[in-house]
Amino acid sequence: MAGTLLVIVGAVLAVVHLRPAASQAATGSPSRRPAQAVGARPSSPAAHSDSPRATADPRRSTPARRTRPSRPARPLAGKVIGIDPGHNGGNAADPSYINHLIWNGRESETCDTTGTETNGGYTEARFNFNVATYLRADLRRAGARVVLTRTSNDGVGPCVTRRARILDAAHAGVAIDIHADGGPPGGRGFTVLEPVADGPNNTVIGSSTRFGSDVRAAMLSDTSMPVSTYDGHGGVQPRDDLAGLNLTTVPKVLIECGNMRNAVDAQMLTSAWFQRRLAAAFTAAITRFLAHP
Ligand code: ZN
Repeated sequence: MAGTLLVIVGAVLAVVHLRPAASQAATGSPSRRPAQAVGARPSSPAAHSDSPRATADPRRSTPARRTRPSRPARPLAGKVIGIDPGHNGGNAADPSYINHLIWNGRESETCDTTGTETNGGYTEARFNFNVATYLRADLRRAGARVVLTRTSNDGVGPCVTRRARILDAAHAGVAIDIHADGGPPGGRGFTVLEPVADGPNNTVIGSSTRFGSDVRAAMLSDTSMPVSTYDGHGGVQPRDDLAGLNLTTVPKVLIECGNMRNAVDAQMLTSAWFQRRLAAAFTAAITRFLAHP
């Protein structure tokens, strides 16, 4: 169809060049207006015609505007996002510090743990830090200011209480704690851990639940990791025993991105490609949440 119309345009323009007077007489002809519209498309050779009739058409200015470079979208400009990559690569080197007890808002727990690892020795601390680094880059590209609770994977701590305080003090619009689980070898999938009201976090229970829904939806649509087969219900589990959730005053969830002790999950979790997919999914969830916090 388009080809036929272009032939018609070409024939009309040929007549225009040969017989200008005839073309002006034809301007008002209803049968020729559709051919003119097709010829005005920027992809059509006829659009570059120097036909007097064509340049008089106001639609001719549209292609010039389309060629201007567009500014990159920055949907998170002005937003502050908190990321807590769980554990730290040096935690095992200082057990007395890591094992000292802190108050998590409801009970005592240790300052931190070493985290888990795959059967091949790929540590959760490294996984968490890699995903956090990809996520920070994605969020910065979208215009956000990003606050991390640790900026390397070769240090010790900080304690889980300090991690919560860092993100609270930053007044993050939303925050995410990134982990991977050490579950039963036959179990697969991710779990979104959500806060339970305990006083300090009372004002962010509803918003954290909504953010958790956004994270769960993004995991299912943007990654191939299934919901957990052994933890929570449909990929969601409320938790009242974690400082990061008990002490938060900003909307926050903790995600166990998969089970490092399961062979299928481990293959995914240790892949840089999949780590980037996770970061992209979290960026989508954060962007969606902050559009309607
Ligand atoms: Zn962990």
